[in-house]
Amino acid sequence: MDQHPGVYIDGAWRRSANRESAAVVNPATEEPFALVGVATDSDVDEAVRAAECALPGWAATALPVRRAVVARMAELLEERAPELARLRSLSMGAPYRSSLKLSNSAGLLQMYLETIDEVQFSQVRRDRFGDSLVLRRPVGVVAGIVPWNVPVRNELKKIIPALLSGCTVVLKPALESPLVAGPLVEMLGEAGLPPGVVNLVVGGGDVGEALVRHPSVRKVAFTGSTATGARIAALAGPAMKRLQLELGGKSAAILLEDADLDATLPSLLAFGFGNSGQICASLTRVLVPRARHDEVVGALAEGASGLVVGDPMDDRTTMGPLVSQRQRDRVLALVSSGRDEGAALVHGGSAPAGLSRGWYVAPTVFGNVRNDMVIAREEIFGPVVSVIPYDSEAEAVRLANDSRYGLHGAVYSRDDAHALDVALQLDTGTAAVNSFDIPVSAPFGGVKDSGFGRENGVEGYGSFLEYHSYKLTPGLAAAMSRP
Ligand code: NAD
Repeated sequence: MDQHPGVYIDGAWRRSANRESAAVVNPATEEPFALVGVATDSDVDEAVRAAECALPGWAATALPVRRAVVARMAELLEERAPELARLRSLSMGAPYRSSLKLSNSAGLLQMYLETIDEVQFSQVRRDRFGDSLVLRRPVGVVAGIVPWNVPVRNELKKIIPALLSGCTVVLKPALESPLVAGPLVEMLGEAGLPPGVVNLVVGGGDVGEALVRHPSVRKVAFTGSTATGARIAALAGPAMKRLQLELGGKSAAILLEDADLDATLPSLLAFGFGNSGQICASLTRVLVPRARHDEVVGALAEGASGLVVGDPMDDRTTMGPLVSQRQRDRVLALVSSGRDEGAALVHGGSAPAGLSRGWYVAPTVFGNVRNDMVIAREEIFGPVVSVIPYDSEAEAVRLANDSRYGLHGAVYSRDDAHALDVALQLDTGTAAVNSFDIPVSAPFGGVKDSGFGRENGVEGYGSFLEYHSYKLTPGLAAAMSRP
């Protein structure tokens, strides 16, 4: 079985005979295929100290040098995408084709390289209140804690904006999919990143918690469940640590009366069942005019039956297994609750025929769901879509907003302007008009229990930078304002 060290500090792997290892299990076979070293408390401490030591040098490094590292990293990602994609698919079950696309994240890095130029790091303000110098400086050592659902992207979305801002990082991936982080930190070194700027500690919640508690961590950038986000906020609050929390969702897709179902269906399938429904922004509540309920349910069931569920490494597969037995059991328990509460199960609801091994759940469609049912309220994080009928547009908006979450949403209509009008009434961080996703140059994040802080776009740098203001004399201000 492959052995992966799991702890990377100050530019080197830490291997020790007595460090605990965790098995990484292939969700398609239920068999362990690799072992990864798990960090101890003292590893966490050393990793944070390495990041702290590297901070002054990296923070003082000129932006063009930081940019050059990220640009080279983008090239390396293109070259090594197949290796990352394989590790990704084997550990969390996404079809290899989609893993390959997401592993080659050169486009994402390009977005960061473009948006960093919009950040004003230094500004002289001269106005009737007086003269001042306003600087934006890196916040310090960042703990990046990520879940298993979108490996490579999750890690890069924590590391790259931190690096471009001049912060240093300790990354903690999830135990279910810890393997891509190793090649990523090595590639950053190859791209010219000095030792200690990005460090890695693999582990579970206890390792994450040790990281959050460490007094030298100044910011926690977290993606994961709302429950863990709340725990991290409780730990970070008294210590005044900066927080960015990208949490769960229960997003609604509203089909307006005139929606073109043929044009809408690919969106609903992609964001209902993509990544086996393990996407925070999945459109899991489909709100439809009552008169169109049966038509939409039928189309979704037909679309679901066209998905090819199976081995992630097989090129024909469009949907793989869920990440773990725990996740599969949780999804099936929620499916049972939907039946018990009287929702109509029209497709799926169990493992697909012929797949007795692996944590598979067939794409599942419920019709006649009420918004107060558990399946409409809980984030399922599996391939389960609930169709909820509504009687008026106002009711559709009310139902969409009647959720503890507020991450994402989508509105579909033949009239783009009308769809936008409705989208503007959604109490969510993002919403799409006649589409399902949000471009990476726009800020992404939630309201309510979906968290706070934003990733992506120029706004994504906000919480990695702290404002510092200095009162200037008129003479200094005049000299500093000269071109
Ligand atoms: P999780 O909260 O259990 O774990 C996420 C990460 O936090 C893992 O690395 C885990 O080891 C770590 N962790 C667990 N307990 C911790 C603690 N007490 N202190 C510090 N770290 C701790 O989430 P999960 O089940 O692995 O991931 C699924 C969740 O992530 C879903 O709710 C999903 O919506 C959410 N998610 C959100 C986004 C977003 O951008 N909003 C993106 C992807 C996933």
